[in-house]
Amino acid sequence: MDKIRIENLEVFANHGVFPEETKLGQKFLVSITLHVDTRNAGKTDDLSKSVNYGEVSHFATDFLRTHTYHLIETAAEQLAEAILYTYLPVREVTIAIKKPWAPIGLPLESVAVEITRKWHKVYLAVGSNMGDMETYIRRGIDAMSSLKDCRVKRVSELIVTKPYGVTEQENFLNGCLEIETLLLPLELLALLHEIEAAADRKRELRWGPRTLDLDIIFYDDEVIGLPELMVPHVDMANRSFVLKPLAEIAPYMIHPIYRKTVAQMLSELKEREKGNEKDHIV
Ligand code: ATP
Ligand code: CA
Ligand code: CA
Repeated sequence: MDKIRIENLEVFANHGVFPEETKLGQKFLVSITLHVDTRNAGKTDDLSKSVNYGEVSHFATDFLRTHTYHLIETAAEQLAEAILYTYLPVREVTIAIKKPWAPIGLPLESVAVEITRKWHKVYLAVGSNMGDMETYIRRGIDAMSSLKDCRVKRVSELIVTKPYGVTEQENFLNGCLEIETLLLPLELLALLHEIEAAADRKRELRWGPRTLDLDIIFYDDEVIGLPELMVPHVDMANRSFVLKPLAEIAPYMIHPIYRKTVAQMLSELKEREKGNEKDHIV
């Protein structure tokens, strides 16, 4: 992606752990890289199609002067979020904050923290098979969209499906959603667990009845193999209740390991299921 870079913006502010730093203040040098698609602005010579770096520089200066943090890590984190919330065309931002006068009692040129934060594109599968299933699902989605660091972009139709794994239970209502989030994978998983818990989800039986289940299917094109989080979802290729709604909202999304589109995975699953039916008849 294209970049707009603001380098070594001087801001006099009061961040620091030591009392003299918060009282007297000091100079900070702030560099900001905005990841923005500038093609349209470049072709039309129209500023409204880009991001005004002058405005961002003033925004960053005001932000760092009106907030006071102990750590430049926090100053960078909060400023990155504020920029991502405020300037919609900015998909990703890198912030470096340098302290040329860091009071450590030794001569040094500067000390700096540099971070990159971005909107991640995530696909979630949602399911319920207890009580008022649609209300549990809609409330779960609303809970997510009420958060500043999550934006619900698309929601598939909800479809009625037969239970999977443990088959002696009520039918399910299933769907998929596309969100954008600033949360990292494990933070997102923790949020999903909170939303499930708020829907009175009890974890009694794997694949058993549940009021609300939220699974991460894709997180950008990352591959995550942690005991508590596998992404892409390990069993998605075998689940038409995931692939069908996902194919509605993201048919061309490519599975980062299988290198197949969602639509392709769905049609291959249908073929396999047809094959299995034939096996049963014979
Ligand atoms: P399945 O994951 O096969 O659909 P389930 O959704 O019924 O089963 P849960 O009881 O909801 O299983 O979750 C069990 C654990 O699975 C969670 O606590 C979580 O740590 C882990 N997990 C691993 N990968 C994922 C993922 N991609 N999305 C959500 N949870 C995951
Ligand atoms: Ca699940
Ligand atoms: Ca789950």
